Amino acid sequence: MPTPYRSTRSTPDTETVSFGDALLRGLAPDGGLYVPQNPPRISFARIFEGDTLPNMACKVFEGWVGEEIPAPDQERIVRDAFDFPVPIVPLAPTEGGPWSDTFVLELFHGPTLSFKDFGARTMARWMGYFLEQRSERATILVATSGDTGSAVADGFAGQERIRVVLLYSKDKVSRVQEQQLIAARPGVQSLRVAGDFDDCQRIAKEAFVHPAFAGAGLSSANSINVGRLLPQMMYYVLAASRVPAEKPWFCVPSGNLGNLTGGVLAHLSGLPVAGFLAAHNANDFFPRFLSGKDAGFAPTIRTLSNAMDVGAPSNFERLQALLDRPTMQRLIRAERVLDEDTVASMRRVYEATGYVADPHTAVGLEAVRRQRELGALQEPVVVLATAHPAKFPETVHAALGFEPDAPDRLAAIGAQGTAFEEIAPSVEALRPYLVA
Ligand SMILES: *Cc1c(COP(=O)(O)O)cnc(C)c1O
Repeated sequence: MPTPYRSTRSTPDTETVSFGDALLRGLAPDGGLYVPQNPPRISFARIFEGDTLPNMACKVFEGWVGEEIPAPDQERIVRDAFDFPVPIVPLAPTEGGPWSDTFVLELFHGPTLSFKDFGARTMARWMGYFLEQRSERATILVATSGDTGSAVADGFAGQERIRVVLLYSKDKVSRVQEQQLIAARPGVQSLRVAGDFDDCQRIAKEAFVHPAFAGAGLSSANSINVGRLLPQMMYYVLAASRVPAEKPWFCVPSGNLGNLTGGVLAHLSGLPVAGFLAAHNANDFFPRFLSGKDAGFAPTIRTLSNAMDVGAPSNFERLQALLDRPTMQRLIRAERVLDEDTVASMRRVYEATGYVADPHTAVGLEAVRRQRELGALQEPVVVLATAHPAKFPETVHAALGFEPDAPDRLAAIGAQGTAFEEIAPSVEALRPYLVA
């Protein structure tokens, strides 16, 4: 039997729901986020034996999704979703040296060059499957400040029964990110909002509760959706099966804490892990919380690692529902890395090892360096490389003096043309795009 899902705000008598319902609803009716009632216990030693990522995923999802998706369909979905390489690069192949036992897990070889492709591609196919079963349709509405929008647009494009409406603001995206957002894709409408990112978020929130859009089948694809988190377990599983360590540490460049929550879910179902190091930029709510200092959410601060600019991480509510505070403090450490140190980290790592890290990954590498220097981290560490450096040519140039090589698939984005419309910053302006 697969695990049922409950809301983070549920009481013992609240009903649990199936995976399909949790996926299609996104948010629970009480405003909470879905978490597994009891994480399934998985025997990872068996899964590790020389298996490929899609094969491992089929076995892991048996416990999390189970017969709600029959095995042949699940197999087709994960093969289709995980169709790109996931290299694990040892930073210093020789022993000794400051970066020995440090592995970079490159999660940016998907179509939009960030780890968000894992969640978006899998979730799109899962949603497509359940909508087909139920003869329903959905419109995904996303307000995006960066990588989520392009991953969702690309992952969901061409899925029958699903349309995507993207809201973005010019002020929060880089040049490359904008190119990715406005690439013409079937079933995707990009809307540039004449306002800032907060306007985008406000409009999206209003649309979800607006009576005019009640029949529009609106759904969300951000990391409040449990369907994006489950696929994110898989690269932790892959790395744990490949690195020479009984229990590796994982360093996770973090913002909304969805990536980290994926790792915690894998660990709760039995994945051997020494601990997690959450690496944050100036948006340091989580490091403050773990250190026991006064920790309220704070307004978002803009940084060079813009996909981690989250003042109030929504997955914190999930972590709290999954782990009590002492367990959280034992299992997870956190560091805060400011922009200056992010740039210094890019430079230092490049000089010592020749590795070109994007600004998000550089925050993670700096967190590892500090913990190593304190002597607090002696075991092998896997650092999640969350974006390709070519997504941030300006920052890489400023740090290293050259622009990173852009992979062909980045140049190909937008080759089919671009398509976007500009709208006023009001929910009314959405009407023509949401109501057929
Ligand atoms: C989204 C994102 C993050 C932060 O991930 P969370 O799940 O929000 O913690 C880090 N790096 C990159 C490149 C991202 O796109």
